[in-house]
Amino acid sequence: MTSAKELTAQGESVRGAPLPYGRQSIDDDDIAAVVEVLRSDWLTTGPKVAEFEHAFAAFVGAREAVAVSSGTAALHTALAALGIRPGDEVIVPAMTFAATANAVLLQGGTPVFADVAPDTLLLDPDAAAKKITPRTRAILPVDYAGQPCDYAALRSLADAHGLALVADACHSLGAADRGRKVGTLARLTAFSFHPVKHIATGEGGMVTTDEPQLAAAMRRFRNHGIDTDHRQRAARGTWYYEVVELGYNYRLSDIHCALGLSQLRKLPGWIERRRAIARRYDAALPQTGCAPLGVRSDTFHSYHLYVVRLAEGGTRSDRDAMFAALRAEGIGVNVHYSPVHLHPFYRQRLGTGPGMCPVAEAAADRILSLPMFPGMSDQDVSDVVRAVRKVTAAHLRIAAS
Ligand SMILES: *Cc1c(COP(=O)(O)O)cnc(C)c1O
Repeated sequence: MTSAKELTAQGESVRGAPLPYGRQSIDDDDIAAVVEVLRSDWLTTGPKVAEFEHAFAAFVGAREAVAVSSGTAALHTALAALGIRPGDEVIVPAMTFAATANAVLLQGGTPVFADVAPDTLLLDPDAAAKKITPRTRAILPVDYAGQPCDYAALRSLADAHGLALVADACHSLGAADRGRKVGTLARLTAFSFHPVKHIATGEGGMVTTDEPQLAAAMRRFRNHGIDTDHRQRAARGTWYYEVVELGYNYRLSDIHCALGLSQLRKLPGWIERRRAIARRYDAALPQTGCAPLGVRSDTFHSYHLYVVRLAEGGTRSDRDAMFAALRAEGIGVNVHYSPVHLHPFYRQRLGTGPGMCPVAEAAADRILSLPMFPGMSDQDVSDVVRAVRKVTAAHLRIAAS
């Protein structure tokens, strides 16, 4: 076990200006698109919303896309459209961001945590199968780091038990499983446009589906449970509307949608850049004390994150020391994630705790996310590799002494 202090006292740091782990790319076209909306008649519920939805649906190959105000709103809206309610259980992986589980709780349902596969940290279909009870209504896998789950296995599991399959694809826009694009692999798929994700709208999200009645339910849910929106009424020359169920204001404004549209045009190039950065990390890492996560065969990984794992025997304090040392080198590493079921809220609310998902718990102590965003230069990538080499070499030297 080494301390951060030992690792950080290693001479001049690799970088002067710190490199973040993720960052949006905004250019003059994006800015012009937003300004154009600001000068127009519609700041929200205007034409940019449908335009963004159509472009997004076309990109992933889904029939419908429904824009909402965040990835969390997308998950909540998807579960609401399925009618998840108190008493219902939804299986979620332990290794994810809290919003995956929160969306279930927001509908009054119960998230049931299942363990992940040790190599990929993706929801393990066998572990999910063991969590099915008569109350289970849906399985909500997460394409952790940008790699699609085993959707063939998850779909047959869901079908065999009459469950809905909902994908949390907040990490995996542009990814594919056996040639089928994320966004078409589950009944409903949720995306996020937070600035660290593949495209940025500030805050924003989307749900895709091939079922028009689910899309219609989601359009009501994001708009107070009202059966028409402002623009539809303006077009029909009527003021009259009906609230037909309880909903939220989860709308995404035209300002956000214009930015999303402009970003979407650049997405294919950005995904290629993310994959090129991943290839460089893949090539350099075997010479260090950390290894990349496993990649399933026949998938197209879109690398929201590049996650590495300390070698076998590495402890949580080794990881924390490496984290601090890399930060001191100007490399903005991060940890994704602390398993959700170990946070105080879920322990109190659901009675979860250590030992429930041992694979996720053990992995969480040894993982680090390296910087990964399309705006990284080759020099930035080299800096990360150099810093990881420097810190792991120091770690090995100290461990051996
Ligand atoms: C980012 C993220 C979310 C939530 O998205 P927001 O847009 O931040 O609300 C949900 N699930 C996962 C796995 C995420 O990474």
